[in-house]
Amino acid sequence: MPNENSLAGCSSAPVLKERGQHEVFCGLTSIIWLHRKMQDAFFLVVGSRTCAHLLQSAAGVMVFAEPRFATAILEETDLAGMADAQLELERTVAELLSRRTDIKRLFLVGSCPSEVIKLDLATAAEKLSEKYFPRVNVINYSGSGIETTFTQGEDACLEAVIRGLEPSEEKQLLILGALPDIVHDQMLRLLDQLGLKNVSVLPQIRVEDEVAVGSNTYFICAQPFLGASFDEMVRRGAIPITAPFPFGANGTTAWLKAIADTFGVSENTFKAVTDAPRRRAELAIEKVSKILKSRSVFFFPDSQLEIPLARFLNQECGMNLIEVGSPYIHKTLVGPDLELLPETTTLSEGQDVDKQLDRLLLGAPDLTVCGLGLANPLEAKGFTTKWAIELVFSPIHFYEQAADLASLFARPINRSEKLKIGRVA
Ligand code: SF4
Repeated sequence: MPNENSLAGCSSAPVLKERGQHEVFCGLTSIIWLHRKMQDAFFLVVGSRTCAHLLQSAAGVMVFAEPRFATAILEETDLAGMADAQLELERTVAELLSRRTDIKRLFLVGSCPSEVIKLDLATAAEKLSEKYFPRVNVINYSGSGIETTFTQGEDACLEAVIRGLEPSEEKQLLILGALPDIVHDQMLRLLDQLGLKNVSVLPQIRVEDEVAVGSNTYFICAQPFLGASFDEMVRRGAIPITAPFPFGANGTTAWLKAIADTFGVSENTFKAVTDAPRRRAELAIEKVSKILKSRSVFFFPDSQLEIPLARFLNQECGMNLIEVGSPYIHKTLVGPDLELLPETTTLSEGQDVDKQLDRLLLGAPDLTVCGLGLANPLEAKGFTTKWAIELVFSPIHFYEQAADLASLFARPINRSEKLKIGRVA
């Protein structure tokens, strides 16, 4: 149930807008989960050795594992304009596609260096798409770290995919967002039990899983960081369904209910499908979240999951919110979660890390959710932290994962309680 003080909501509360130093990974990071999800796609980053190192260390892949991503390294001659980077890119793509016949979709991913030298990847993708049609579809998007955060990589990728979808006037439901397989299957099972048949998911697992879009397409995001994809769907004429995100028992129920109401599913069917898993999730959360109750939490801006997760921690686990920071706030997309936050919450968008650290010291939260770069120094200062990126890589959506989600936040508090006891003993 909502906390009493959340009833007024936070949807029109002032937002502290900050534009200073920010501490986040770049959009290339999302290739790590996207390449696993899109099984016939290859991600070719057009970037520097730094980009290659980021991918290599984030994915932990060894060269002989033939991963479905790589970096076409821009050498100094390219950066200085002494070589024709377009020609070199065409040569690299030709070599890659002759060696890897399994590739059906090739993403040319822009980076900071390719943007700085203004390499026109859109034209390159168009030319290569014509050249390799129909065997390979070539699409470009930017994963650059200039003024972005890591989940925007998926957003930019899906936005580019949506731009190229075929038109269709068929009535259908389209779900946006890459989800771990186990969660993806649970979601489709729930929608099937509700009687929804014409359901597609973006990103598609394989290019044969045809997805089209038009004015009879209803869509809902399963991830809160898909603002540009959301806007592109609207531009393509599709109708958005907005709801709190499917985190926890309440979030999942509200998300499914918004879909059920749009497609005229009866109340009886809805209850028959959701009552039992909802109850199970509520009980499981209750058990795990005892240690979270009445504790305070502070979110640094990182994954763009912050607002829905803050709603979950406050509404379903009884935590107090000191500050909820998010790199970007797309008010239409996260509006239903914002409405459920307590009016007293400080909301911040963007980052000025020093000022935010000052606010953290003043707030002295029991738990701080932040990026890897801040976590260790804050732990050393006695703060209990949770790595935000872990929340993106873990299955946390829908009923069956609700207790796991609560325990991701409970674990660090448990750990620091035990350490305190150890120190006293
Ligand atoms: Fe670094 Fe930019 Fe490459 Fe990301 S895209 S690894 S921020 S140079």
